Amino acid sequence: MKRMLRDFDWQGKRALVRVDFNVPFERGTTRISDDVRIREALPTIEYLRGQGASVVLCTHLGRPDGKRVPEMELGPVVERLGELLGAPVGYVHDAPGGEAKAAAGALAAGDVLMLETIRFWPGEETNDADFAASLASIADAYVNDAFGTAHRAHASTEGVARLLPAMAGLLMEKEITFLGGVLENPVRPLAALLGGAKVSDKLQVLGRLVGHADELFVGGGMAGTFLKAQGYEIGVSLVEEDLVGFCTDTMERAAAASTPVTLPEDVVVAERIEPGVPTSVVGIGDIPANAMILDIGPRTAADYAQRLAAVGSVVWNGPMGVFEVSPFNEGTRIVAEAIASGNVVSVIGGGSTAEAIAHLGLAEQMSHVSTGGGASLEFLEGRELPGVAALDDV
Ligand code: ADP
Ligand code: MG
Repeated sequence: MKRMLRDFDWQGKRALVRVDFNVPFERGTTRISDDVRIREALPTIEYLRGQGASVVLCTHLGRPDGKRVPEMELGPVVERLGELLGAPVGYVHDAPGGEAKAAAGALAAGDVLMLETIRFWPGEETNDADFAASLASIADAYVNDAFGTAHRAHASTEGVARLLPAMAGLLMEKEITFLGGVLENPVRPLAALLGGAKVSDKLQVLGRLVGHADELFVGGGMAGTFLKAQGYEIGVSLVEEDLVGFCTDTMERAAAASTPVTLPEDVVVAERIEPGVPTSVVGIGDIPANAMILDIGPRTAADYAQRLAAVGSVVWNGPMGVFEVSPFNEGTRIVAEAIASGNVVSVIGGGSTAEAIAHLGLAEQMSHVSTGGGASLEFLEGRELPGVAALDDV
């Protein structure tokens, strides 16, 4: 078990909180187009203030690669955070230096201070020991609430956690609880639904899920390579020739483990990925030579929807089709709606699956939608995330 926010007496203490405020902006402006990442950190910040702590926040923004980039300063983020908190938020254009230390030292209980974009300093991404030590010197304890960055061993996610009492924030706690729980102690039967572009991104997670899940369902671009492994002609669909053998092995391992793997029985095909392009629905034995699979078909979608709504838990990573382009979002929509309305523990990986769910307005109806793309995939693979591993054990 990792140490959590409540396992520390915060009264009169100063917290260094690593958040993920890497928000998107309207192109070429300083207007934040989606502030969900800021909203998601509010419970942890409010908790600390309520306990009588002062709060020093630290985040990355964009990819400044170790130097100061004015467009990646945190002014707009500080402003939005202040609005959401309904309280003033201090801001220093410094993180490891004397200015940050002085500002942090002047905080009273309940005050909030934002440090400057942490990747302006090269020591952040190299996890430099002196840089981590200077960050640690401005606080009494460390909180990591940035799950989406927890797969990186950087100074503000890993190095500093080794130097201070270190615990998970409330958002981090929710991620660990759901992503860990769904594989280690799930409400059974546990179904895994895998889609997205490529088999190669999901090799490890496929390997692990065959041991953990009671059933596997495959969709998305990766279905092409699985279908090819089963001997089907898949036209000009996305395929990874070098992984056909891996798919065959996975099917055999699953059969040996008595884990049923369901592949699509019908698919939506077109000649090109383009809105409004002529499409057809074909059985998997009838894919035309000049066509590509762009979504699961309606029979497959109905079948997956019905069966997934009836299991105990679902872990889902990867959309069922090219969800960005209508009408190839239908399979994802039908399956997502069924899971959302079913009485099932639903754990959704981050990245494009989370994007699709948010777009459908279904996020609130899922048990958990991860805030981390790469991080949730690595977590489901069973890898220890450096930013989690470095937190104290209790
Ligand atoms: P994540 O962002 O979670 O890592 P992936 O990158 O694995 O997810 O998959 C998302 C992408 O997969 C989407 O951009 C989607 O368009 C693409 N995709 C889904 N189905 C297909 C398909 N049949 N053919 C090609 N691409 C697909
Ligand atoms: Mg991807």
